[in-house]
Amino acid sequence: MINITFPDNSVRQYESGVTPLEIAKSLSEGLARNVLSAKVNGKMWDAMRPVNEDATIQLFTWDDPEGKATFWHSSAHLMAEAIEALYKGVKFGIGPAVDAGFYYDIDTGDLTLTEADLVAIEKKMLELAREKQTFDRVDVSKAEALKYFTEKGDEYKEELISELEDGTITYYKCGNFTDLCRGPHIPNTGFIKAVKLTSLAGAYWRGDEKRKQLTRVYGITFPKQKELDEYLVLLEEAKKRDHRKLGRELELFMFSDTVGKGLPIWLPKGTELRLRLQEYLTKIQKEYGYEQVITPHIGGKQLYVTSGHWDHYGEDSFRPITTPEEGEEYLLKPMNCPHHCMIFKWKPRSYKDLPFRCAEFGTVYRYEQSGELHGLTRVRSFTQDDAHIFCRPDQVKEEFIRVMEIIEIIFKALDFNNFEAQISLRDPTDTEKYVGSDENWAKAEAAIQEACAEKGLPAHVEYGEAAFYGPKLDFMVKDALGRKWQLGTIQVDYNLPERFDLTYIGADNEKHRPVMVHRAPFGSMERFVAVLLEHCAGEFPLWLAPDQVIILPVSEKYLNFAKNLQSYLKKSDIRALIDERNEKIGRKIRDAEMKKYPYMLIVGEKEEAENQVSVRKHGQVDLGTMPTEAFAEMIRKQVEEEQNKR
Ligand SMILES: [Zn+2]
Ligand SMILES: [Zn+2]
Repeated sequence: MINITFPDNSVRQYESGVTPLEIAKSLSEGLARNVLSAKVNGKMWDAMRPVNEDATIQLFTWDDPEGKATFWHSSAHLMAEAIEALYKGVKFGIGPAVDAGFYYDIDTGDLTLTEADLVAIEKKMLELAREKQTFDRVDVSKAEALKYFTEKGDEYKEELISELEDGTITYYKCGNFTDLCRGPHIPNTGFIKAVKLTSLAGAYWRGDEKRKQLTRVYGITFPKQKELDEYLVLLEEAKKRDHRKLGRELELFMFSDTVGKGLPIWLPKGTELRLRLQEYLTKIQKEYGYEQVITPHIGGKQLYVTSGHWDHYGEDSFRPITTPEEGEEYLLKPMNCPHHCMIFKWKPRSYKDLPFRCAEFGTVYRYEQSGELHGLTRVRSFTQDDAHIFCRPDQVKEEFIRVMEIIEIIFKALDFNNFEAQISLRDPTDTEKYVGSDENWAKAEAAIQEACAEKGLPAHVEYGEAAFYGPKLDFMVKDALGRKWQLGTIQVDYNLPERFDLTYIGADNEKHRPVMVHRAPFGSMERFVAVLLEHCAGEFPLWLAPDQVIILPVSEKYLNFAKNLQSYLKKSDIRALIDERNEKIGRKIRDAEMKKYPYMLIVGEKEEAENQVSVRKHGQVDLGTMPTEAFAEMIRKQVEEEQNKR
């Protein structure tokens, strides 16, 4: 008999060789019907794979991210099986699960897959799924595995096997398809009830631009047709909200291959929006005792040798810039932290000076492979709403609370009402790999958890997810479509103060090490604006809208009045533009609705005579006529309310 320990620490005894599926059955029939995979002693495990020793176990269903990953990865096998059945001689690269669905990289030889092929593959997949094929795990020797794939003529699998250690290699057989794989997989293909192959793309083998380009087929599967239908509706909505599309339509930002890939250019309206965000955060940061600094976009290489970044990322980043005469080397700054450390070090600091909170909208540059670039979310240059707090160990908790308050204020002002936090702590079983004293870690980890509890912030703890230099807290927001995004972050750092030998003089007149806290409520301006766009579908809160008001004169005769009105509003800090086109008023209203301007002011004879405006709110709400001053006052009040949802 073996002892099986469940997540609630209860223990039950089973015969050796019991499978997670059988364990599920002993708990409930419902669970047994839904279990997809398991974690056994920390390792992902097939539901059908025997357990032969005492173990801790977690069972996963569709409701768990691990269960979904198993489901989708298994679907990648099923897709490969279908493709192999339909197109002889294709070769396979890798087929992992992704955030939503899966893909397989395939060498299709002379064949070019089309949309019509995708439909045929979907059909074949469903046919094979109905056969309820099992995924059979087989241990193979390296020699056997190499022989199999050499005979099959699949050089991609051969290459992967050649890098594996003998004795660790497994196949999974599903129907007529045998794949090199570590597993785990779902009990059988019958769980897969709905299939959608979503797109085709090119992908270099192993992400290497010098190697062959394979065809990447993306897909997603579900255990119920209804879930696929709902997903497709969501996908349509997400397409409409794609920030790259909205960014173009609303003229917020652009990219130019001539300027360089992944280097976003903020257009006037986007800049207006971004500056509003920055001004708002700056105002709050001032309230919270931050001091603004500005540092250069480059830094001497030694700065990054000291910080350790050169050793860690140097090879995978932009090459150093050299001066023509002295041959000095500079790096485009990949982060602002080292510059801020030098600011701290610039003069002696006393315990009474702490915390020192040093803030900068600092633009950083990080090399990303061109295939990884994506709109504003994956770029090579971005601006962090960065700040570093240098404090005493006993101040960490208070500082966390203060940062959490700032983040809360901002998220609320932007209508992100659904957010939660992830606390990343040390792996308690392997404390060797972390820098900093056990005492300080314990203090900081407790401080973060207490801070969350005190602020009533829903948070879950992940052990082993901390960086080697300190624990952290990440904020996840749920957008209007229920998608989760990681935004703000707060991170404790024991490493950089050590490396830069930062000290302050304590009450005891001795030198002490400060704790450094990195934090960025938005994360980066680029990523934040992308998420914001997808969240609000381009309908920004009034305070943030680049154009808050559009003035619609009913005819050219009232253009002058419109212009006077515009400059009056400008003086009241209201951003207004005029539709000067010679169009019918109905058309102007329709177009303004399309462009999502929060307010429309219709002006004609009556309005001019009485210095009034006819107000329409976006979303076809007629607010009637009011004096111009009253309108300005209404806008001012709304902006103030939006910014103060504290
Ligand atoms: Zn697999
Ligand atoms: Zn930092």
